[in-house]
Amino acid sequence: MSLYQLTAKELHEKLHRKECSATEITESVFGRIDACEERVGAYVTLDRENALAAAEAVDKKIAAGEEIGPLAGIPVAVKDNICTKDVLTTCSSRMLYNFKPPYNATVVERLLGADFVMTGKANMDEFAMGSSCETSYFKKTRNPHDLSRVPGGSSGGSAAAVAAGEAVLSLGSDTGGSIRQPASLCGVIGLKPTYGSVSRYGLVAFASSLDQIGPFGRCVEDVAALYGAICGKDPMDATTARRDYPDFTAALRGEVKGLRIGIPKEYFGPGVDPQVKETVHAALRELEGAGAVLKEISLPGTDYALSAYYIISSAEASSNLARFDGVKYGYRAEEYDGLTDMYEKTRSQGFGDEVKRRIMLGTFVLSSGYYDAYYNKAKLFQKSLRAEFAAAFEDCDLIATPASPTTAFKLGENIGDPLKMYAADVCTIAVNIAGLPGLSLPCGAVQGLPVGMQFIGPRFSEERLFDAAYAFQTIRGGKLCDIPNL
Ligand code: GLN
Repeated sequence: MSLYQLTAKELHEKLHRKECSATEITESVFGRIDACEERVGAYVTLDRENALAAAEAVDKKIAAGEEIGPLAGIPVAVKDNICTKDVLTTCSSRMLYNFKPPYNATVVERLLGADFVMTGKANMDEFAMGSSCETSYFKKTRNPHDLSRVPGGSSGGSAAAVAAGEAVLSLGSDTGGSIRQPASLCGVIGLKPTYGSVSRYGLVAFASSLDQIGPFGRCVEDVAALYGAICGKDPMDATTARRDYPDFTAALRGEVKGLRIGIPKEYFGPGVDPQVKETVHAALRELEGAGAVLKEISLPGTDYALSAYYIISSAEASSNLARFDGVKYGYRAEEYDGLTDMYEKTRSQGFGDEVKRRIMLGTFVLSSGYYDAYYNKAKLFQKSLRAEFAAAFEDCDLIATPASPTTAFKLGENIGDPLKMYAADVCTIAVNIAGLPGLSLPCGAVQGLPVGMQFIGPRFSEERLFDAAYAFQTIRGGKLCDIPNL
């Protein structure tokens, strides 16, 4: 077995026992990148030189007899909307094609403190708007399990990199499903954390009240370790909660006896592929076999979540993206006649179609005369959806659903039909609106394509989600993810 195929947990043990060096790990991952990145296209930017330098620094620490943490020397891909000092951060947009941030996002600073190795910046849908990675200005990422299919989105590059073995771990961001849906389609584990548990400082804002950075990995322990390294209060982000977080890896027990799992019938309705439903049901029966108690529940607000999401997220996006005007950073139109013309041409040329659609929709729902009818109504719905989840959690400990209504679809299949593309997030979106944590884990396959199961918990219940996922991983013989031959 090559080093790139191992999990962070296994690699850490090897480093600890001096069975390999951090440099060898990084070289193995870049060897894999050399072998398959041309076909997968997970990265916008690769940073081999800095990665090798970071690995060498870890090797020096080991040689000096210093203790190293669980992420030291582990190759991690970072989504391209997370600011990395002096390394291109494009949001896969022409608008930021040349943008090198002068600072690191807080999550990156924390990972630097944990001695991680950044492999590069992962491809994504432009400004995180999309569910297939096809709205990227630069390239299309392909699903490592079937190169004719999408990896999901918007964090499709982060998911594909981990699925293909082109990174051991990665960071994505999730506003409406952008970690869980690609995790599901690529057959890896992804967590959208509780809103307010991970700093958004240095994450290029899409919808600030919904955005959250989170981890991808190939085993539950790795995802728990990466989350543990990035969560916590940050003075630079006033929306982060002040609280103590446990050692998530040490807390894993894998016990589901008596765990009450709610199964909301709305998530198993007509919009969801019958084989996906059956795969998730079968996985839940395995958990039942281990002592979990399954209960059918109802979350009637689910039907309105998609509409409310596109109102709230587009409203916030229209405001957040106003800063891209050609003055301060990024793209500027070459020819223009005066200031207004410069703004107009820059934004017309710099943004892609999907981004423009969201800005127009957001501007519309915030305009006078429509504000009450759309935006305020969506915010009212958000309150009632939160109450609905809170009531559901009085009777169950966590909720299980499919993470995506279908397996990976073909490249080009949905890109011409925005409403079809938006429907790719029906299973994930309510979680963001309610500010809850959601974890997607592989639970089977349909015609060789991975199916993801989603666990949803109350706010700050990540420990419980990890433990249930760990129990499922144990039932499956300790392994949920396979790197395909490429
Ligand atoms: N697919 C959804 C959208 O296009 C969610 C994106 C996300 O979570 N960033 O808005």
